[in-house]
Amino acid sequence: MNQKVKKEATLLVQGYEVVIGFETHAQLATQSKIFSRASTAFGAEPNTQACAVDLALPGTLPVMNREAVACAIRFGLAVGSHVAEESVFARKNYFYPDLPKGYQISQFEIPVVQGGEVSFYLGEEKKTVRLVRAHLEEDAGKSLHEDFHGLSGIDLNRAGTPLLEIVTEPDIRSSAEAVAYAKELHKIVTWIGICDGNMQEGSFRCDANVSVRKPGDPLGTRREIKNLNSFKFMQQAIDFEIRWQIDRIEDGYEIEQATVLFDPDTGETRAMRTKEDAADYRYFPDPDLPPLAIERSWVDEVKAAMPELPRAMAERLVADYGLPEYDATTLTQSPAMASYFEEAAKTSGQAKLVSNWIMGEVSRRLNIDEIAMEAVPVKAAKLATMVGRIADGTISNNAGKQVFDALWKGEGDDVDALIEAKGLKQMNDSGELEKIIEEVMAANAPMVEQFRAGKDKAFNALVGQVMKASRGKANPQAVNETLRQKLEQG
Ligand code: ADP
Ligand code: MG
Repeated sequence: MNQKVKKEATLLVQGYEVVIGFETHAQLATQSKIFSRASTAFGAEPNTQACAVDLALPGTLPVMNREAVACAIRFGLAVGSHVAEESVFARKNYFYPDLPKGYQISQFEIPVVQGGEVSFYLGEEKKTVRLVRAHLEEDAGKSLHEDFHGLSGIDLNRAGTPLLEIVTEPDIRSSAEAVAYAKELHKIVTWIGICDGNMQEGSFRCDANVSVRKPGDPLGTRREIKNLNSFKFMQQAIDFEIRWQIDRIEDGYEIEQATVLFDPDTGETRAMRTKEDAADYRYFPDPDLPPLAIERSWVDEVKAAMPELPRAMAERLVADYGLPEYDATTLTQSPAMASYFEEAAKTSGQAKLVSNWIMGEVSRRLNIDEIAMEAVPVKAAKLATMVGRIADGTISNNAGKQVFDALWKGEGDDVDALIEAKGLKQMNDSGELEKIIEEVMAANAPMVEQFRAGKDKAFNALVGQVMKASRGKANPQAVNETLRQKLEQG
């Protein structure tokens, strides 16, 4: 144990300790915008879903969307935060073409969600990343560069879309940890249904603040990598940034605080602008919005409706079904997968085998056919029956794949009828098996001689012959045992 802790504390890259803090924007899955009734649906014609309130045209007033607040409360409860009885909206002032109103409504000094933590496993090791806060804010519009030659277009549909910005302490110590944290956070927000998690559409965007230091030194100067919207790029970007900073320092330069972008084509990060300080934004409480008051009774109501959370559930799967931590984490990817597992495991009494099938064949087919777990064509009860037939030796694992394939394609839904129709039953009659083995030994006398002369390879060849002679129906383990017995007898 001590060994492990020590190893972690000295996880160094070329003698430097890596320090990372995350800011994640999760788009909240509400029907309408955070302060207006305009729709938040993705993919509409540009500028058809921004209303006067979203643009803060004169004479309009924002009105808080209750559902967005409910999402924030759900999140706060999920990560063990304090949900503030009163929080304050502030204007963050800056100019950018996609923000024609000149300020973004956000929360600054008093956010709605305070503290909390996110835990996950990295290999065998449990890691906990502390959260500083999560605050509600509105999104800005979008600049479009591709469709206009030499010009930029502005699409304001996204203006006013509700976001929850989730900020960590600088607790992350490697790119692998960063990705594991982001995946766990992604799992949490989708699990509790506050975010659709679609990274391509920008529903879950991460900014990674990265610095390096010699162990024991105060925190180094950070650079913030903006808008990481895939886990793969996240790891690449952070790894590049770490190496870049170390090289820079080794060359005798100081790191300058900056905002950088990752270019997937070159695999490099590039400075976009030197970083602003909070003071540059001239935050002040938004005079159009009263403080956000949340009654205890509302928090209690939301709490009562909370589902079992993925980490707690994973720990329960380990305890109740004796699953390895890896399986439990994989199976709790989504509520749909977790409940599919539990139903099949309970029905069959074969938790580990069910887990192998879900992580293997089920996931593989879902991927190929691009089907969501919710729409899996083989129901949990069928998988349970099929797995039960493997466990009791009726069919081999390979025959199970044929049954599964038939179930998947809807060729039938009675497992035993499929086994019968396809002639997949394993030979469990030892007399029949002995007969086949004797025939195979008689027909392959030279191989038998070779084995007896000490050539182990001949054994596998004989097993192959027996399997072939049984047309794949012999139980491989029984073949092994019986064949060895017979060879050693002679
Ligand atoms: P800002 O308000 O300028 O964005 P914050 O203090 O809110 O700055 O920090 C933003 C994020 O950067 C947080 O996740 C925090 O943990 C992280 N962070 C702060 N200092 C460092 C540092 N020296 N190295 C790495 N991450 C840092
Ligand atoms: Mg910040």
